[in-house]
Amino acid sequence: MKHCAYIGLGANLPSPAGSPQQTLCQAIDGLAAAGQVTAHSHLYRTEPLGFESQPPFVNAVAQLDTDLEPRPLLDFLLALERRYGRNRTLDPPNGPRTLDLDLLLVDEQTVASERLTLPHPGLAVRRFVLVPLAEIAPDLCIPGLPGTVNDLLAALPNVGPNRQEAVRRIG
Ligand code: ADP
Ligand code: MG
Repeated sequence: MKHCAYIGLGANLPSPAGSPQQTLCQAIDGLAAAGQVTAHSHLYRTEPLGFESQPPFVNAVAQLDTDLEPRPLLDFLLALERRYGRNRTLDPPNGPRTLDLDLLLVDEQTVASERLTLPHPGLAVRRFVLVPLAEIAPDLCIPGLPGTVNDLLAALPNVGPNRQEAVRRIG
C-alpha cells in the first residue's frame, strides 16, 4: 500500500556532498530510492535551536509517496544520514550535523514506540519545520493537533529561534 510521508531535512556542517545546501539537494534526490518525491519546499536558512554557538542550519521538507512502512522508512532515512557523514555517536543532541532526516508524518498514523514517534513531536513547535511544510501542504491536518499546518504556523509565538526572521528562504 502506498503511504504519504513528509520528511524534514536539516544540515549545518559540510558533508561528503559539499555545503549544507548541496547536501540537502542531493538528499532530496536520494529520497527517490524509497519512492516518489511528489513535492519539496525551497531551502531555508534558520537559526539553530539548542547549542546557539553553531552555524545556521539549512532546512527543507519533502513529500514522499512510498511503499515502505514507517519503521523501514525510518531505517532508510537513518542510512541516508550515515551516507552523508552523520555520526550519531559523536553528535550531541541538537548539536551540529551533516544531515538530519526526520520523519514528520505518515498518512494519519500515530506511533509511540522507543524508536519512532509519529507525528514527529517537534513538528508543531518548530518554525523551521512548519514554514517549509506550509509551502507544500498548507491545508494538511496533523493527527492530535488542532487545525491545519497554516493554523499551527499562525499560532506559533514569534520569539527566539521561532521568530519570523529566524527562518529565511534562500533557494
Ligand atoms: P533530532 O532529530 O530530534 O535532533 P536525532 O536525529 O539525533 O534527533 O535522533 C533521532 C532518533 O530519534 C532516531 O534514533 C530515531 O530512532 C528517533 N526518532 C523517533 N521518532 C522519530 C521520527 N519521527 N523521525 C526521526 N527520528 C525519530
Ligand atoms: Mg533527527
